[in-house]
Amino acid sequence: MDRQEINRKQKQFIFPAVATYFRDPLPLERGEMQYIWDVEGKRYLDFFGGIVTVGVGHANPRVTGPMKAQIDKLQHTSTLYPNETAVALAEKIAQITPGRLEKSFFTSSGSEANETAIDTARQHTGNLEILALRHAYSGRSSMTRALTGISSWRKVSYQIGIVHAMNPYCYRCPLGKTYPSCDVACAQDIEAVIQSSTSGSIAGMIAEPIQGVGGFITPPKEYFKLAFNIVKQYGGDFIADEVQTGWGRTGKTWFGIEHWEVEPDILTAAKSLANGHPIGLTVATPEVADAYKGPTIATFGGNPVTCVAAKAVIDLIEEDDLRTNCAVVGAYLRERLLELQQKYPIIGDVRGMGLMQALELVKDPKTKEPAPEATAALLEAARENGLLIGKGGMYNNVLRLSPPMNIAKSDVDEAFRLLDKTFATVTANLHHTA
Ligand code: PMP
Repeated sequence: MDRQEINRKQKQFIFPAVATYFRDPLPLERGEMQYIWDVEGKRYLDFFGGIVTVGVGHANPRVTGPMKAQIDKLQHTSTLYPNETAVALAEKIAQITPGRLEKSFFTSSGSEANETAIDTARQHTGNLEILALRHAYSGRSSMTRALTGISSWRKVSYQIGIVHAMNPYCYRCPLGKTYPSCDVACAQDIEAVIQSSTSGSIAGMIAEPIQGVGGFITPPKEYFKLAFNIVKQYGGDFIADEVQTGWGRTGKTWFGIEHWEVEPDILTAAKSLANGHPIGLTVATPEVADAYKGPTIATFGGNPVTCVAAKAVIDLIEEDDLRTNCAVVGAYLRERLLELQQKYPIIGDVRGMGLMQALELVKDPKTKEPAPEATAALLEAARENGLLIGKGGMYNNVLRLSPPMNIAKSDVDEAFRLLDKTFATVTANLHHTA
């Protein structure tokens, strides 16, 4: 099928609510490491990786090789039957996750992983209420939509027992303060919300160490320690949603939350864990996991092909020291983005950690008025120029960069050249139409 036919059938046979990027959606056909090709054979440098998903490159043979062998051996068991691939993966996860996280429950998506985490915290603590953060994205199931703190992703949301606190968004501080003189006052909002909007005892708090869909909002270093202590004071479990930040992407550590020395009671992951193959992970400390009331089952949970892929991904990250690569190449990417900011005043903020970096775009760096139209135009122009990047943020004015974790500095140089070209054309057009 050609591009027009795929897009026509997409319109006719797929739910229209399913979001697609670009005015003219982009049907993709084939990928190889940091590159992806559309159905017309045009090549793109992929600096979004699905949605922060293809952590070790498209069709990486060190992942697809073991998967192919497993497909011919055994493809499916369900969680009813233990299998070596699932327990080997769970053992590895227990070794590399922070603190006493030890017991895993495998499902098929980040939404399911977070659903499982919330159920687990509620059963473990005997409490109902969950605290989430504004600008969070937690998934597309009923409960995870309600945990989400961005209205556009919360359509038809009926859950009770979920409250939202301010997020640590320093560029647009919800309290109008400036770090560090603010004393991280936003963390105190967690306590204020618990005291005002819950029964006074909570089941837990769920938070992304760096908010992904929210626009790579990166907290000040004290924030999560303070948040964790408040959660504990009110009887809750702390859940780190590492769906975007996990497996080394933020540099140096395996998980985002480790940068701030917080040991979560529950951690969730998905996306890049199996390099794009469907997986959801909920891992908890033994006493928290043991509190989950069974029996329960996940038909696709612990699927042998997926588990082999995930194990191969973790082994590869370890063998190639990709955590260090994310720190080193991520710092270089950051440098080049700051260079771009010097050149284009539309870039109000550069933020993120490791190979998870974002640009927040504003009409005026002083007023910080969001620039969603320019952001959309930049996304389109980057595609034209052969670079795929992501978009996000409450105001649709953030460009997100999350390339595979095994890229080199030369890939950053290529992305920089394409971004520079993109910004030059789009900002020149903006001035013309202004
Ligand atoms: N948590 C976070 C932080 C996410 O970014 C996402 C997906 N964007 C999810 C959960 C939900 O994952 P999935 O789409 O696999 O259900």
